[in-house]
Amino acid sequence: MKLLVATNNNGKLKEFNEILGELGIECVSLKDMGIAVDVEETGTTFLENALLKAKEIHKIAGIPTISDDSGLMVDVLSGEPGVYSARYAGEPSDDQKNMDKLLLNLKGKKDRTARFKSVIAAVFSEDDILVSEGECKGVIIDEKRGTNGFGYDPIFYVEAFSKTFAEMTDDEKNSVSHRGNAIRALKEQLKERM
Ligand code: IMP
Repeated sequence: MKLLVATNNNGKLKEFNEILGELGIECVSLKDMGIAVDVEETGTTFLENALLKAKEIHKIAGIPTISDDSGLMVDVLSGEPGVYSARYAGEPSDDQKNMDKLLLNLKGKKDRTARFKSVIAAVFSEDDILVSEGECKGVIIDEKRGTNGFGYDPIFYVEAFSKTFAEMTDDEKNSVSHRGNAIRALKEQLKERM
């Protein structure tokens, strides 16, 4: 089976292929399909945004389409930046500015617990849709550590590894990440359909 992943991010595509490839599924990107559409993320939840994008791209591509929406939720900030993670410090999206704004908002706050969340929508047809979710818990540290990854990775510290996401290898991060967990949950649902 061929699945279109509504992304142009090669890292994401690789992660989907590594996990879903075990089921004999081949994941392709928007670029592979020659689709150059940018769906605006106007939803107020991860699920809304994931559905919006997967449905829209499915209409264009006509093959099973997956979209994921993710973000960082900080407990003491009532779940902020959440769906606004990419543009927390405004547009265009800037990882350094986003991290700086978050650290400023956390100044003096003792509770640093946070989680990354990922929601995936897989659209097979208008009324045949699978949804899966994944989470990864960590704490926000004041010092940026590591150079791998993207987004908030340098300040997201995972106790089980004694490392930030940015200090982990791709394999280490994928083994515990919100997106990895969401893809693994989707894999279980896909297995039942095969
Ligand atoms: P999207 O799901 O790719 O649109 O991600 C939205 C935003 O959430 C990104 O721009 C990042 O700021 C943040 N984010 C999502 N996943 C990660 C991650 O694995 N590490 C760091 N930041 C992430």
